[in-house]
Amino acid sequence: MKRRDILRGMGVAGAGGLIGLLPGEGDLAAQSVAKATKGLPPLTITKVKAILTAPKGIRLCVVKVETSEAGLYGLGCATFNQRPLTVAAAVDEYLDPFARGRSADNIEDMWQNAYTSSYWRNGPVLNNALSGLDQALWDIKGKRANMPVYQLLGGKCRFAVDTYTHCSGRDLKEIEDSVRRAMERGFRHCRIQRGGYGSQHLSGQAHFKAAQFGRASDSGMEIGPYVRGTIEMFEHIRNTCGEKIELLHDIHERIPPIDAINLCKQLEAYRPFFIEDPVSPEDIGYFKMLRQQTSVPIAMGELFNNPHEWTGLICERLIDFIRVHISQIGGLSVARKIATLAECFNVRSAWHGPGDVSPVGHAANAHLDLAIWNFGIQEAHNFSQQTQEVFPGCPRVENGYMFVNEAPGFGVDIDEKLAAKYPLPEHPGYWRPVRRPDGTAVRP
Ligand code: MG
Repeated sequence: MKRRDILRGMGVAGAGGLIGLLPGEGDLAAQSVAKATKGLPPLTITKVKAILTAPKGIRLCVVKVETSEAGLYGLGCATFNQRPLTVAAAVDEYLDPFARGRSADNIEDMWQNAYTSSYWRNGPVLNNALSGLDQALWDIKGKRANMPVYQLLGGKCRFAVDTYTHCSGRDLKEIEDSVRRAMERGFRHCRIQRGGYGSQHLSGQAHFKAAQFGRASDSGMEIGPYVRGTIEMFEHIRNTCGEKIELLHDIHERIPPIDAINLCKQLEAYRPFFIEDPVSPEDIGYFKMLRQQTSVPIAMGELFNNPHEWTGLICERLIDFIRVHISQIGGLSVARKIATLAECFNVRSAWHGPGDVSPVGHAANAHLDLAIWNFGIQEAHNFSQQTQEVFPGCPRVENGYMFVNEAPGFGVDIDEKLAAKYPLPEHPGYWRPVRRPDGTAVRP
């Protein structure tokens, strides 16, 4: 009997056992077939779809990837609160036909080809859509391996994820009380804000309103009251709440770069854990000057889309915490590479984790946090009851630490029928205009 007849007779799986026993022509091809049959059978993507829901009034977009194995699917976060319908169209109209019929196994290959499938790339809409697909494939990989995703990333570097919580108030006493309550709940890190971003309530008259410039709903913000009020806030909280609590603050790019630099210098005395987003992405050229002027730890990046925005800041050691929004940069596959790059420069992570990240996205943040050495801190979010019902398996926070459940994949599911009961709000969700007293637009 000829060798190929033996192989045919035994079936492909049985042929693997004869490798090495049948020397001669065709051995390499036989080995290749045998390797392909080890482990799990090939898995194909059968459908990619966007699911929109707003259980707490926040526009969430999650991507569901279905496969050729009955009942096996994955979920990924594609939440872009200000443009959810556009992301959903990118998923349903473009990624679904692109991915259908392709392998669900080769995540990196899928990411690279889907990324360039639009030729033009690195914008927030397409990156979020890509993240939904990417994270769903990691979820599927974990389910197939019967492991949480952090295990696929190398296992745990820590028992849980240390987080910071938000402590805001219109006056100093309100902020102090909020910090004390957070400390009692076990938090070791608090982000303190005086009112909303830019402390608009401290600003004087918005002259543009009297002149009927812009719309009545536009709000006003002055630089001086915000800067003075923020220094006063740090002084008060450090004096009343002590040294044990770590204090964070988000400038939210509301003031000109030179004012941000001066503010950071003046906050040095109060030992902030980090100051977040001192300038807009358009102004990253100012980070060298900022670094030369102050040793205040800097966190940056939630508005970043493009590798050119973070590679220089990390490699030149101009920031201390990289704070990208993981769905905004294209998913977990990108974030884990950023984490590896950042480890080379001892830049730590502080992934963006507000309410407009879906529970699947929060889980992706946390799984990566568990697995990387250079984890810094994670923004915590308290999920509403409705959100937890729509997304069974949400990460939970206890004593200031975030825990993922140990289910395979990201451990977060979606109840699609319940999700459909929370449609997106009628308002499209624009970022509301903020203006200087003369009406000039403030860039967030
Ligand atoms: Mg921020």
